[in-house]
Amino acid sequence: MPKRCKVCGREAYVYLPQHNLALCKEHFTERHERVVLETIRRYGMFSRQDRVMVALSGGKDSVGLLWTLKKHGFKVFALFIDLGMGAHQERVNRVIERVAERIDVQIVRYSLREHYGVTAPELFRRHRRRHPCSVCGTVKRYLINKLALELGAEVVATGHHLDDEASVLLSNVLRWDDEYLRRQSLVLPKTHPKLVKKVKPLAFLTDREMRAYAEAEGLPYVAEECPFSKGARLKAIAEVLDELERVSPGAKLQFYKNFYKFKEKYLGEAEPPQLRECRVCGMPTTSEVCAFCRIMGKG
Ligand code: SF4
Ligand code: ZN
Ligand code: ZN
Repeated sequence: MPKRCKVCGREAYVYLPQHNLALCKEHFTERHERVVLETIRRYGMFSRQDRVMVALSGGKDSVGLLWTLKKHGFKVFALFIDLGMGAHQERVNRVIERVAERIDVQIVRYSLREHYGVTAPELFRRHRRRHPCSVCGTVKRYLINKLALELGAEVVATGHHLDDEASVLLSNVLRWDDEYLRRQSLVLPKTHPKLVKKVKPLAFLTDREMRAYAEAEGLPYVAEECPFSKGARLKAIAEVLDELERVSPGAKLQFYKNFYKFKEKYLGEAEPPQLRECRVCGMPTTSEVCAFCRIMGKG
């Protein structure tokens, strides 16, 4: 590893093999934030006039994103959903308190148990045939959208980074799932008055970069994994990509970036689905009762 920062020659804090670039803490942080701001600008994610809601999990990615947006003067606030995940949740909640002390933004806490009388693990037991992340993902997507609307956010920013995005992409490619491939995007536009625009400003930064950033900035974050985390298949896919990256630095970024050129040329955008209102809650859905209400056992 080159030991000196390419910009100033000071001792390097990090080496990014995908860019063959060694940087000191200051120049790494500067570059990192530049990538986030450039992604926001280039993909028209939001402007400084928009009210942006960050979906905050307590992990290094969403905490790092919230910090960067606040630091650069965006109108940002956070939503944190307490899923009632037992001892893990208590640790997450303590970190969120520290995040609130560290970052001067509004953090709205929303408890699943207080509002729906149920915790995520109880829902997992009710829906044993589904992977917990699929149940949890549906619940979180629904609540994030609903609360963003209620709290007056123009756009929701999530902490998905390159490793997440490249894994999902490879998973879709392995199934040649053209519908999912068309839908994969950095920006999900507002296609219905009750759906909020969703964006992923970290999509070109790796997991390792996110960790280095959180540590460089001294941010509190939850380091341990969720006890119900990802299925074996997605984990194996992430490992394949890590191995590829090890022998061919930059492969992950190239795979993901070039996908959008390929998509534009050969696949095009997905047709917006035909939406109607859920018979139970009135939110947009493709079926009579939305996936969230079905999970909650209503309808
Ligand atoms: Fe939910 Fe899965 Fe994330 Fe855990 S890892 S919070 S179960 S989506
Ligand atoms: Zn430097
Ligand atoms: Zn519903």
